[in-house]
Amino acid sequence: MATSLAQAPLNHTLAEHAGQPVKLYPRSFRKRGETWYGLVRTGPEKKLIILNGLADPFETESMLEQNGKTVHLCPPTSANADALRRLFPWTAPEPLGKTSAIGCGDRLGIASPGHIRACRETNVPPVLAQQSIREMERTERTPQEVLDDATWAVFQEGYTAGFGADADHLKTPEDIDACVEAGYTMYTIDPSDHVDNEADHLGDAALQERFEALPWNRLDTTPEEALVQYADTTFDLSESAGALQVEFDAETLKRSAVKYGAAVAHTKDMARHLARRYQEDRAGASYDLEMSVDETDYPTRPHEHYFVAAELDRLDLKLTSLAPRFPGDFEKGIDFIGDLDRFEASFQAHATIAEAFGGYKLSIHSGSDKFSAFPIIGQCAGNHVHLKTAGTSYLEALRIAARRAPDLLREIVEFAFERFGEDRKTYHVSTDLDAIPEPATVADADLEAAYLEDEDGRQLLHITYGSVLTARENGADRFCDRFYQVLNEHEEEHYDTLTSHFLDHIESVGHMSVA
Ligand code: ZN
Repeated sequence: MATSLAQAPLNHTLAEHAGQPVKLYPRSFRKRGETWYGLVRTGPEKKLIILNGLADPFETESMLEQNGKTVHLCPPTSANADALRRLFPWTAPEPLGKTSAIGCGDRLGIASPGHIRACRETNVPPVLAQQSIREMERTERTPQEVLDDATWAVFQEGYTAGFGADADHLKTPEDIDACVEAGYTMYTIDPSDHVDNEADHLGDAALQERFEALPWNRLDTTPEEALVQYADTTFDLSESAGALQVEFDAETLKRSAVKYGAAVAHTKDMARHLARRYQEDRAGASYDLEMSVDETDYPTRPHEHYFVAAELDRLDLKLTSLAPRFPGDFEKGIDFIGDLDRFEASFQAHATIAEAFGGYKLSIHSGSDKFSAFPIIGQCAGNHVHLKTAGTSYLEALRIAARRAPDLLREIVEFAFERFGEDRKTYHVSTDLDAIPEPATVADADLEAAYLEDEDGRQLLHITYGSVLTARENGADRFCDRFYQVLNEHEEEHYDTLTSHFLDHIESVGHMSVA
């Protein structure tokens, strides 16, 4: 349903409403029969506007007459987002399959239009609603709110090419339930609590004991069968690009199994639960499935990846993507740290194994700003890359604060210093706080360089987002209201910084688009 913007009744809509100027989002306007639907903003809030037609099934806030035509204004409620997805199905997420995509986490709920513009330009599909359960807890948002924000953004931009919604780092069946109910289309199962990080360092007796104690029933096999299947065997992957031989002896099999066996069992149980929920509630629709072991203590070695892939295959579990832990450091908000040659050798081996087991994507978590590793990722995995970014969109938003509300940024930095000790506990960062200047000593013009270009400053702000966004003072939001106000007042500038940040990522990886 392509609508020429020239036909849209932009001149006939409201110039102001309740004393507030009305901003129109021209790309949003769509016609159904004689009725127009579009997105506008009055003051801080976006609203659906319906011209010349009945509001049903949308909840309305007000109805006016304008030049003899009716104008309904509808608030951005979850019920209205749901009605919008039914009326315009391209505002609902869909599975994206095994071709490259970029995960664009949006902690503020207003960044997605900037992401969409980069993806529209490059033909790489976005995963817009991508939040881990941990992130949602920290920002006090529900899975439904995160998904609804993506729907409104897609409508605003008139983006009909399709997008995914990633329920990230799911650890329990209850996490799955909440995200199935909200309508996600990609499920990232994180079994890292079941990975045995001591496996490499166990003596023979302890290794044997833990090997025998694995949940063999749930794995639907026995220790003896596993030894027969893998030990003293070389698996030849010369058919796949980057030809590889994967060798196991009894010891490497036992260490791989002890390290990842229970994680495979947990992933299987979670995946079966998910499949059941889809049969019951979503009429057997398809979805994307990822397994992530990126948040474990040691890099995933190729033979360990092979073991996991072969076991999942044996259990008939089909992945869309897998996130190994790669060698080197993938810290939040900064470039790759480590030996690039080693990274390349490892990444190529992982890509070969992924190709051999059905061509699932390699998923790169904490993928933002890894500019020195991006060309290797693109070269080795081509159009089978899933690049996840989350926190750097928040940093791009803080740039707008640095430029347009310097004192607000100073206050946020002060608060981040207070919170850092506590907030860093669940993150992998090497921030040197002493290297970051006191905000009172930094001139307005230098704020961006001090806190948003400098690596230590970026990490300080990156990991304290939850504390900043939920801080209260005297019963009111401490920063949020002012922060959102600055972003709304400089909305296009905010989108522009995001778009160029994401174009940099997509272009540095290269090979992500089929078109
Ligand atoms: Zn992750």
